[in-house]
Amino acid sequence: MSESRAASPADALPVPPDAYGGAIVDMHVHTRGHSSDSTLDPAELPRLVREAQITGVNLSEHHRVWDRHLQLEYLSEQPELLVNFGIEVSTDLGHMLAVGLTRYEGGIHRAERLRAALDRVGGFLIVAHPFRHAFETRSGGELPLALSAEQAAELPVFRVVDAVEIANGCNTPRENYFAAEVARIAGLPTTGGSDAHSARGVGYFATGFENPITSSQELLEALHARRFHAVHRAASGRLVRFGPGSLEAAERLGASPVGGSARPPVRGGRA
Ligand SMILES: [Zn+2]
Ligand SMILES: [Zn+2]
Repeated sequence: MSESRAASPADALPVPPDAYGGAIVDMHVHTRGHSSDSTLDPAELPRLVREAQITGVNLSEHHRVWDRHLQLEYLSEQPELLVNFGIEVSTDLGHMLAVGLTRYEGGIHRAERLRAALDRVGGFLIVAHPFRHAFETRSGGELPLALSAEQAAELPVFRVVDAVEIANGCNTPRENYFAAEVARIAGLPTTGGSDAHSARGVGYFATGFENPITSSQELLEALHARRFHAVHRAASGRLVRFGPGSLEAAERLGASPVGGSARPPVRGGRA
């Protein structure tokens, strides 16, 4: 990457308090009974959301959206919680977080078909953890990514999606920072999410929106308005815009990357 295009250290400093003063949504959460690899009891979410000092969650279950009757039952039990019932789909262009689908549809394992399905319903598509394991050999050693950020920004996936998940709680900082740099070059807005598969990690990363959000419809509208950014919370309570170096900068400022008692999700073989 050229020096002139590299993010300046100032990008890592806390954003002005009013820049993302609206909803703060963990856009990537898996729950028990809906994602086979998750132990997170949905009944725990209101408490976890409160502790992480966020507004709500987007449930991104593997290859399924909650059945409608279960959604309604859950919403009646948790009327205070902002929850959107999304889906994470494994596609030929990587894992995708889709907002707006009401169910899994045949053929959407092809990103092009998933894009078309979302376009039919006014949905929104985010590529999840795009560079997970990009710097690792199979035996766990370090591997320099063969592509520069400029080259990576030309990959087909970035022409299909609406946004890029640049802060994923199961990724390494290096993987996330590279995704952030690629998203910047590609001119795509960015999201953050914990990718929590248990009670640990909810809210570790999130997406800060400009305005308050009270429903799934408002979440979709806010996403299409592109007025959001991946964030993490400093110990002072301020939101920090996630970007290359922001975790270390937050630490130097005496801040932690998390809100409340949240800890990073457990990494390891996450899908
Ligand atoms: Zn996931
Ligand atoms: Zn995934």
